[in-house]
Amino acid sequence: MNNPRYKAGYVAVIGRPNVGKSTLINQILQQKLSIVSHKPQTTRHQILAIHSSENSQIVFIDTPGIHNQKGTALNKHLNQTAQSSSHGVDVVLFLVEAMKWTDEDLRAAKVMSQSDADKILVINKVDKIKQKESLIPFVEKIMQDFEFDAIHYISALKNKQIAPLLDAINNRLPVGPPIFDEEQVSDRSTRFFISELIREQLMERFHQELPYSVTVNIEAYEIKEGMHHIHAIIWVERKNQKMIIIGKQGEAIKQIGIKARKEIEQFIEARVHLKLWVKVKSSWTDDIRAIEALGYTDEFKD
Ligand code: GDP
Ligand code: MG
Repeated sequence: MNNPRYKAGYVAVIGRPNVGKSTLINQILQQKLSIVSHKPQTTRHQILAIHSSENSQIVFIDTPGIHNQKGTALNKHLNQTAQSSSHGVDVVLFLVEAMKWTDEDLRAAKVMSQSDADKILVINKVDKIKQKESLIPFVEKIMQDFEFDAIHYISALKNKQIAPLLDAINNRLPVGPPIFDEEQVSDRSTRFFISELIREQLMERFHQELPYSVTVNIEAYEIKEGMHHIHAIIWVERKNQKMIIIGKQGEAIKQIGIKARKEIEQFIEARVHLKLWVKVKSSWTDDIRAIEALGYTDEFKD
């Protein structure tokens, strides 16, 4: 890479659950790399989503929500991840839902304000607001307590005003070579994205019945004659959850498997043979060692 003007850097995406962080990242990548769901707190990892163009590379860090309830080891772990991800980045995007400011937003804003990176206030979901002028006092109120270097109004869902936001990010990145080459990126994260695609199907179908603590682990991944053989384990906490996922005569898990396989095939652009198992691991959310064993720690660190 001999482009002396090439820019590359890290961008943290911060905001309370449900403001649209995953939707924005997906929209930017035009590819389903991070999980989107109606259930809050679906993003549990620091997802590195990478947007490379001719002149720049943006490495997005999709933070988990800033959680309010203390308690389980899992929640504490998530809070630590959220806070550490705002350090050592070049730009922070702070997402807020238009006309909605809650205690959770305030908590997230406090984390955000500790970062010394350039901060961009992103007002999302403006498509939901009929009287756009009502946004002015809303934003002024936020600006009374927190400082930003720029403000952008977008609709992540409807893909509105994303390009100017990308320009604003690029303007703030340091000049330098790409941080990751494309091959390295896909290789390291494919398994993780696949497990998230499976989890997404589970959450879509069972978001009433299943807790947030359901986890998917890729046990085996083999490529034989162009066919990707993937063996995944769905970990649940209780036997009745296992029964729910399997369903009557295995009908539910069969449907999950079919849908997940299609998503995975689209994502890796290859034919997939997917095998799903459901296993019960009792109360692992309170066992920090179990969390680490399942790969929640330092997954994307070098
Ligand atoms: P996250 O928890 O911050 O990652 O939020 P998600 O990206 O999962 O989005 C939460 C919900 O808000 C989903 O139902 C999205 O479809 C919805 N959403 C996200 N962006 C927009 C937007 O610009 N407009 C509208 N109307 N809905 C949005
Ligand atoms: Mg998310």
